[in-house]
Amino acid sequence: MNVRPAAAEVTVTVSDTGPLACRCVIAGGGPAGIMAGFLLARAGVDVIVLEKHADFFRDFRGDTIHPSTMDVMAELGLLDDFLKVPHQEVHYGEAEIGEEKFRVADLTHLRTHCRFIAFMPQWDFLNFLASQGGKLPRFRLMMATEATDLMREGARTVGVVAKTASGEIRIRADLTIGADGRHSRIREAAGLEVEDIGAPMDVLWLRLARRPGDEHAVLGRFVDGRFFIMLDRGDYWQCAMVIRKGTFEEVKRAGLAAFRARVARFAKRDNADEIESFDDVKLLTVAVDRLPEWALPGLLFIGDAAHAMSPIGGVGINLAIQDAVAAANILSDPLRDRRVTLDELRQVQRRRAFPTWATQKVQTTIQNQVIDPMLTSGKTPKAPAILRLAQRWPFLQRIPARLIGLGFRPEHVR
Ligand SMILES: Cc1cc2nc3c(=O)[nH]c(=O)nc-3n(C[C@H](O)[C@H](O)[C@H](O)COP(=O)(O)OP(=O)(O)OC[C@H]3O[C@@H](n4cnc5c(N)ncnc54)[C@H](O)[C@@H]3O)c2cc1C
Repeated sequence: MNVRPAAAEVTVTVSDTGPLACRCVIAGGGPAGIMAGFLLARAGVDVIVLEKHADFFRDFRGDTIHPSTMDVMAELGLLDDFLKVPHQEVHYGEAEIGEEKFRVADLTHLRTHCRFIAFMPQWDFLNFLASQGGKLPRFRLMMATEATDLMREGARTVGVVAKTASGEIRIRADLTIGADGRHSRIREAAGLEVEDIGAPMDVLWLRLARRPGDEHAVLGRFVDGRFFIMLDRGDYWQCAMVIRKGTFEEVKRAGLAAFRARVARFAKRDNADEIESFDDVKLLTVAVDRLPEWALPGLLFIGDAAHAMSPIGGVGINLAIQDAVAAANILSDPLRDRRVTLDELRQVQRRRAFPTWATQKVQTTIQNQVIDPMLTSGKTPKAPAILRLAQRWPFLQRIPARLIGLGFRPEHVR
């Protein structure tokens, strides 16, 4: 099943005309970088966003657009157009523990514009944002341009060095933003190291075809010491099998037939023959980490470059967007006035450090208290009492919905 968009659907063109100097250069055209670029350009700041790939294609990435992100779209006046991009809407989260089914989260009572999670391929999301950015005169996106190093004057970062098909370029800027993901090259160039919080698991992503009688829901299934997730993607299921950290090679050695049989059992179907080889299975090496310092003179990190999140809750893309909104709210004025200080950059960290820490705390608690013991024992866990209570008093299902859908300290576009 190949769902890669045709090249013609990639609406963004490379624009490299004009002087290579700007108020803000952003390394990384993921959710954090494109949204920060869009918001700063909208506020009148000259921005250049660099993306090392020639398109936004990325399979099995953050495809879960939460109500907090759709609120941002509404505040920008983009929600109606955004919702025209093909997506699936999921209003409830459900879990099966052994043979018992539980409703875990009910998003239908959230006080937001959209009371659901929208599943949208990340390339469609990024194409949408980039094409909105393309309408702004101060937004420039350079595809196939990889930031390789920082330009410095003393202790201050004054731009980036980047590699393009036609050679090396230098871009001077008052502010450089590292939004180049969890293996950030910019972070390495700055000599910064993340604090590794650790995760006991990795995730195998794969697709299964939809079959007649399949239900529509986000389903987490706990069975035989495994956690298996099925996300409704319309004509197929996006599935995730959680395995013990570093054991993908073991899974492969046991053979494709054994893997298919296990997937079929977890997905409750006769077979999983649509998995033709292990090439159809994408390994997500789960990392949970964060930077102690997000800012240096002339340099700021946001999104995964500042904090890699566990996949629990599908919050990564949404936190990246929240960082971008906070950064634009705090930095637009100083950037326009060309007086951005280290203290203002640190304000972004002060604003976003608590939501990051609190979200990671919830994720690591679930990792350590539910997932790790289950993966180690190979046994199906007992349903926690609170889950049973939430079936009797459904209003309790609104609490996880709030935490997942809006998160801690939601940001609003100024
Ligand atoms: C397999 C997988 C599944 C995931 N599933 C989910 C999910 O279901 N829900 C969810 O919310 N999150 C999920 N995530 C996490 C989510 O994708 C990230 O949290 C989110 O995309 C972070 O956004 P970002 O912009 O900070 O970084 P990224 O999305 O990593 O974007 C960084 C961008 O920078 C570019 N880049 C890298 N280096 C350079 C460079 N030197 N110069 C120029 N460009 C560069 C990259 O090509 C990329 O486009 C998943 C991640 C993976 C890997």
